[in-house]
Amino acid sequence: MKPLAIYVHIPFCKARCYYCSFVSSLYSLDRVSKYFDALLREIDLFDFSGFVVNSIYFGGGTPSVVKQENILTVLDLIKKKAFISAEAEITIECNPESFSREKAMSFKKAGINRISFGLQSTDDKILKRIGRIHTYNVFLKACSIAKEYFSNISADLIIGLPGQDKRSLKTDLERVVSLGIEHISIYGLKVEEGTLLQKEGYKVDEDLTADLYSNAVDYLAGKGFIRYEVSNFSKEDKYRSRHNFTYWNRGDYVGFGLSAHSFINNYRIENTCSYIDYIEGETECKRLLISPLESEAAEETIMLALRTSDGLDIKSFNEKFNRDLLSEKSGQLKQLDKFLKVEDNRLKLKDDGFYVMNEIIVRLL
Ligand code: SF4
Repeated sequence: MKPLAIYVHIPFCKARCYYCSFVSSLYSLDRVSKYFDALLREIDLFDFSGFVVNSIYFGGGTPSVVKQENILTVLDLIKKKAFISAEAEITIECNPESFSREKAMSFKKAGINRISFGLQSTDDKILKRIGRIHTYNVFLKACSIAKEYFSNISADLIIGLPGQDKRSLKTDLERVVSLGIEHISIYGLKVEEGTLLQKEGYKVDEDLTADLYSNAVDYLAGKGFIRYEVSNFSKEDKYRSRHNFTYWNRGDYVGFGLSAHSFINNYRIENTCSYIDYIEGETECKRLLISPLESEAAEETIMLALRTSDGLDIKSFNEKFNRDLLSEKSGQLKQLDKFLKVEDNRLKLKDDGFYVMNEIIVRLL
C-alpha cells in the first residue's frame, strides 16, 4: 500500500491577525455547521483504497476554535474510510486562547498525538501589535494542560515582527525551551499583500531578521534542538514532523477543505478558495497532471529536499530522473561551494547556505 498524508483545513478564527493572508474567516456557528457538512461530504467521496495513512494534520485557520465534536466527527469518518497506520502522527494546530482541558482530553481520546501551538512571540506588547488575542500567560496555561495529555508538543515563533529585537527573541527562546516541549518552528515574517501590516507600510528589516535567525539556530543547538529543516527544530529525530516530510519528499498527500492542496498519483489538485462554492459542493478548482519525468518534478525534488538537513539523495535522484546531477551541475556546485556540500552521497546546504537558501536553489535549477 502507498503511504498517504492527510491535511484537513479548518478556515475559522476568532480574530484576524495583522500579518495573516491564510484562507480563513471569522467563526460563526452557522458557517461552521455548513462547512463541516461539506467537508464530511468531500472526505466521504474520496477513494482511500490502496493507501495507508501515515499522518493526519488539522490546520487552519484555527482548528481549536471549533467545537471538539466537529474535529472528532471528521476523524471518525477518516478512520472509517481509510486504513490508518498504528504509528500515524495526528496533529492539530491550536491557538492558546481556544485550547482547554476538555478539548485536550477529547483530542487525546480520539487518537490525536501531537499539538502545534501558534504562539509567535512571548512578548505581550508584540502579540498585541500583531493582532494576536492571547497573552503569554494564556499560552503558559494552555501548554501546561497540553503537557498533561501529550508528549509531542510544538510551538511556532515568528521572526521579523514589529518591535522585536535580539533581546526579545532571546527571551522568547529561553521561555519556550524552559517549558520542555519537543519541537519549535521559527518562521520569517513575510508581509503579504492585503494584510494590515502591509497596509500600514510595515517593512521587515532583513538584516536584523537574518541575525535573529542565526542567533536562534545557535541558541537552540546549544539546548539540543536539531535544525532538521530550515524552519523546524526538534529535540530528537522522533519528534520531527512526519507530516511535513511527506511534502518535502514529494510523497502523496490529500488536502480536504477550503483552499486545500493535494498531490496524489501525480495529480496536483487545488480546492476552491470560495466558501460559497465549497459548501455547494464545487470543491475542486484546478487539476494538473505532472509527469514524473518532467523537469518540473526534478526541480521540485531538489528544491524541497534542500530545505531539510538530510538534503538530496543523489543516487536515488539520478535513478529516478535518469540524470547525473553532480556532473551536470559541476560548474554551479563549484561556485556555490561556500553554501553546499556533498556528504554520504547527499547534496546538503552548509550552515551559511540556510540563510540564502532561495537564491542557491534558483542558481542550481
Ligand atoms: S489565527 Fe492563524 S490563521 Fe487565524 S488569522 Fe491569525 S495567523 Fe491567520
